[in-house]
Amino acid sequence: MTKTPIVNVVDDIIANASKAGASDIHFDPREDYLMVRIRIDGDLRDYTKIPKIYERNLITRIKLIANMNITESRLPQDGSIKGTIKGINLETRVSTLPTNEGEKCVIRILDYSRSLEGLDALGFNEDNFKKLKKMIAEPNGIILITGATGSGKSTTVYSILQVLNKKETNIITVEDPIEMNLEGLNQVQVNSEIGLDFATVLRSILRQDPNVILIGEIRDSETAKIAVRASITGHLVLSTIHTNNSLSTIERLLDMNVERYLLSSALSGIISQKLAKMICPHCRIKEKTTPYQKKVFKMALDKDVEEIYNANPKGCDKCNNGYHGRIAIQEVLMINDEIRNALNEENLEKDDLNKLVYTSDVITMLQDGLLKILDGSTSFDEIYKIIDVDDDLDIYCKIKGIKYNENVHEEKQEEEINKDEDKPNTNLNIEPEIKPEKNEDVNKTNEQVQIIEGPTEVVTPEVITIEEKPKEEEIL
Ligand SMILES: [Zn+2]
Repeated sequence: MTKTPIVNVVDDIIANASKAGASDIHFDPREDYLMVRIRIDGDLRDYTKIPKIYERNLITRIKLIANMNITESRLPQDGSIKGTIKGINLETRVSTLPTNEGEKCVIRILDYSRSLEGLDALGFNEDNFKKLKKMIAEPNGIILITGATGSGKSTTVYSILQVLNKKETNIITVEDPIEMNLEGLNQVQVNSEIGLDFATVLRSILRQDPNVILIGEIRDSETAKIAVRASITGHLVLSTIHTNNSLSTIERLLDMNVERYLLSSALSGIISQKLAKMICPHCRIKEKTTPYQKKVFKMALDKDVEEIYNANPKGCDKCNNGYHGRIAIQEVLMINDEIRNALNEENLEKDDLNKLVYTSDVITMLQDGLLKILDGSTSFDEIYKIIDVDDDLDIYCKIKGIKYNENVHEEKQEEEINKDEDKPNTNLNIEPEIKPEKNEDVNKTNEQVQIIEGPTEVVTPEVITIEEKPKEEEIL
C-alpha cells in the first residue's frame, strides 16, 4: 500500500464531485468500509465504497491537504483546501468529526460561479428584482437576507456586494468564515478564540468610515443592536439571519430585544429565500391539476389553473429522475410606511402583522413558488416540500375572511394515497413532452450515477481510482 494511489483516489473523488456539481462530499466510516456520498441539488447520494483498510490513509490525506492536525483524531477539526486539483480551481471547507465508527469527514465545495453571474441571474421575478434594486440603492438602512443553511443566502449577499462594489464606496465585511474574496472589499474574519467576535469588529468598523457594512450573520442581541444603530447613523447594512420568512425575521429581531422604534426606522427590507429543485425541461410532463392544487392556486394567486408541469420520474439523459439544478424561491418585503408604523406599536398582534405583510404589494414565498410552477421551472411537490403551504393558506383565508376549510389537509392526503394506489392514474397526462430517446439510456443513467459500486471486498487503491467516464458530467 503506497501513498500515491491514495492521493489519486482523494483527488479523483474531489475533482469528479466538483465536476458533477456536488456541494458536499461525505466520507462516512461504516463498520466494514468507508462510504463516500455526494450531495447534488440538495440530495445525498451514494458515490463509492472504500475498503476499511484504506480509511485511515484516506482521511489522513484529506487532513493533510486541508491543513489539519493529522495526529489528532479524537477531536473535531476544521480546515480548508484551496488550490487546483486535476485542473479544477477549488475552494473547499473541510470538517472532521470523531464518530463511533471512526473519523467522519465532510468536504464542502464552495462554488461561487453563481455569485459571479450577477444579481439578475439569481431568479428574482421582475417585481422582486425591482424592489431589491431600489433597496440597495439607498445609502442607509438594513437589508436582511434570511433562509436556512444551504438556501443560497451567501450567493445573494455576494451578488449584492458586487453591485455595490464601486471605487467611491468603502465596503467592510465581518464574516465567519469569509467565503469568497472580493477585490476592493475590506473583509474581516471573526476569531472568537482571541475575543474578536462580530460585536467587537463592528464597533471598530464604525470608526473606519464605512459606506456599506456586511455582517455575516446576526446571531445575538448585541450584534443585532449594533447593526440597527449602524444603519440609522447613515450606513447601508447587509446581514443574514436564520429564519423562514419576513414575518419570523421581524419577530426574531424583536425577540433579540432590538427596540421597536429603532427597528422600524432602520429596516429597509427582508429577502427570504429557499431553493427548489428545477424540473428538467427536456423530459418534463404536463399534468392536470388536482382539486387541492387548484385550490392552492386559486387562494394564493387568484388563478384558475387546469394543468401544470411536473418532473418525469423516469428522467432522461440530461437529468436525475426529472430534476436538474435548483432555483431560488424568494420573498422580497420592502418595508412601507404602514408596516413601519405597525412595527412601532407595542401591542402589535401577530395576525395583524401577517395581514399587513400579506396584503402589501409583497409576493410571498408561496406565491413566488406557485409562479415558478406555472412557468415550468419547478414542480408542485417541490414547493409543497419546502413551504408550509397549509399554514400560508390559513393566513390567506383569514385575510380574505373565508372560513378555513379543514378538508384542505385531508384532500392533499387523499390525493397522495390515490397516487400511490393506482399509478396510471386518472389525471396523469402521461405522454412526456419529449420522450427520452431510448430506454437503454435510462438504465445507463442509473448505472453511472452509482459510479463504482464495484467489488466491495478486496479492492486495491489502484482499482478504486475512479476513471473519467465521458458521459458522467452530463448525467450527474
Ligand atoms: Zn430530463
